[in-house]
Amino acid sequence: MFEGVKGLIDCHTHTRFSVDSEADEIKMIERAIDLGLTAYAITDHCEANRWYSKEYYGDVKVYPYFDSGKDYEASVARISELRNKYSGKIKLIVGTELGQAQEFPEIAENVLKDERLDFMIGSLHQLPATEDFALMDYSGFSHDDIVALLDRYFSHIYELCKWGKFDVLGHLTYTLRYIEGENGFKIDMSRYDEQIAESFRLLARKGKGIEINTSGMRQAYGRAFPELKYVKLFKDMGGEILSLGSDAHFVEHLGAHIGRGAEIARQAGFDRVAYFERHKPQFVKL
Ligand SMILES: [Zn+2]
Ligand SMILES: [Zn+2]
Repeated sequence: MFEGVKGLIDCHTHTRFSVDSEADEIKMIERAIDLGLTAYAITDHCEANRWYSKEYYGDVKVYPYFDSGKDYEASVARISELRNKYSGKIKLIVGTELGQAQEFPEIAENVLKDERLDFMIGSLHQLPATEDFALMDYSGFSHDDIVALLDRYFSHIYELCKWGKFDVLGHLTYTLRYIEGENGFKIDMSRYDEQIAESFRLLARKGKGIEINTSGMRQAYGRAFPELKYVKLFKDMGGEILSLGSDAHFVEHLGAHIGRGAEIARQAGFDRVAYFERHKPQFVKL
């Protein structure tokens, strides 16, 4: 799980400032140092559609623990303080995983103005008027329902790339964790190839990157988000910037399969990966 991780980067992790993690930030940083990572990013969740406190949303169904504005501030304040404290020991990157920027661009652009921030992952966790992918009940879904859901997913990914002000696109295809990995649906993904290529073309033109998210490798799905085929496609479309992330929500998962992620990058023809400082890519040779 941790082979070949030394000298690499893990640029997608969560701590107790994310709604779905209890991980202690100091333990995470100490673990990143022990693993010998060159750079390590904490990217707590900030869902643009859950920016305000529960009261703001009135009748809209809101999870009581979602208050992304508050969570974001707590994370970024704490991690920027630690970035200075740990300088000389590890390159700590102050990041955020911003969800649904394409739907709420004003909120997303406000977050982007934050000068404390080094790095923004642009992710899509939820479609409008639809449950978060992680919380959806897939049991009543037919094959056609799943295809319709994925059609919407990839068209919103395209919209997210059109907005495109993040540094890297987060975990493309991660919906397959639930659809294929946990619920056993088999989908002919080739129907999305052209749309994905278009999204990648947009990103490449803007000088933006994608991440190889290795969380799928430790889950039932068993592969990266996205897998090799798409990383190659990104390169073919002119993409130059790749980041690596474990998406760890627990200390034990930090750095997991990052070495395999780097191998995918190499196989796709990349000889370097990037972490970000003040949104500027810093390259690490593979
Ligand atoms: Zn995510
Ligand atoms: Zn994440």
